[in-house]
Amino acid sequence: MKRFAVLQLSGCAGCEVALLNAEAWVAQYKLVYMPLVVSAEDVPEVDVLLISGGVRTDEDLYKLRRAVKNAQQVVAVGTCAISGGVANLGDRDEVRALFLAERDRPHVPRLLSKSHPVDAFVAVDLYVPGCPPTAELFMAVLTNPRDFQASKVVCQECGRQKLKDVKPAHLLGFQQGEVLPDVCLINQGYLCVGSSTRGGCRAPCPRAGHPCVGCRGPSDVFIEKESDVWFKSIKRVFASMTDAPESEIEQGLRSPQLAMFLFQFSDYAGGDRLPRPKEKVL
Ligand code: SF4
Ligand code: SF4
Repeated sequence: MKRFAVLQLSGCAGCEVALLNAEAWVAQYKLVYMPLVVSAEDVPEVDVLLISGGVRTDEDLYKLRRAVKNAQQVVAVGTCAISGGVANLGDRDEVRALFLAERDRPHVPRLLSKSHPVDAFVAVDLYVPGCPPTAELFMAVLTNPRDFQASKVVCQECGRQKLKDVKPAHLLGFQQGEVLPDVCLINQGYLCVGSSTRGGCRAPCPRAGHPCVGCRGPSDVFIEKESDVWFKSIKRVFASMTDAPESEIEQGLRSPQLAMFLFQFSDYAGGDRLPRPKEKVL
């Protein structure tokens, strides 16, 4: 039986909970390390190492470098490990000040100067974005990543209909008022970014009436480009599907709910690092 481990860096443990919902791996894999449920001193030798969370402290970095030495395959799972998410919130000045004010506490890991994605320090074989990735995605990682079938973008998995002749004059944000079933959330004024967000999650959010916030990251078209290109494309969608003023669209797209995913600490491409090849992103 293959062995796998889950290394949890700075994040929220949501990825671990999602993995535990994907129970079908139990018959095929032996989980040998995951501090949330299986106590172990260190990551032993494994076939697959799943890494969740960003690299925010010296302890994260130490654990990461030790763990990958014992793994055949390294998989970065969830938005925090790849490009931003909850881990990115730690870069905000007020959070940093709060943390540093507690400097007298012993045993608290030292903060690095900023948050980093896992691949800033170690080679990654596969990326599985999502906040958290769904149970189906976790199963695909552990069984047949090459056979996993996904639509290019969330809109194709959503099932809501886009109406050409219905253009809201203003944006409603994320959660207010009554949501009509079946009709695209943008037609109703909501800030849904499913049109260029990577498919594969099966669109649980817009199906349930909550706008997609882009946690799966950019679709293949944008994945090897800087996030600004992705952002401009989303703006164009809202300009064509609504009559809202440009300033309102800009302000809405820069709201805190979307900040975790659209303004990421690590672009999929750009800066001083090579683009992540889309073939490596599930
Ligand atoms: S924009 Fe959102 S609500 Fe509209 S079709 Fe795409 S995912 Fe569905
Ligand atoms: S619909 Fe959007 S926000 Fe929801 S899981 Fe999919 S990518 Fe993430």
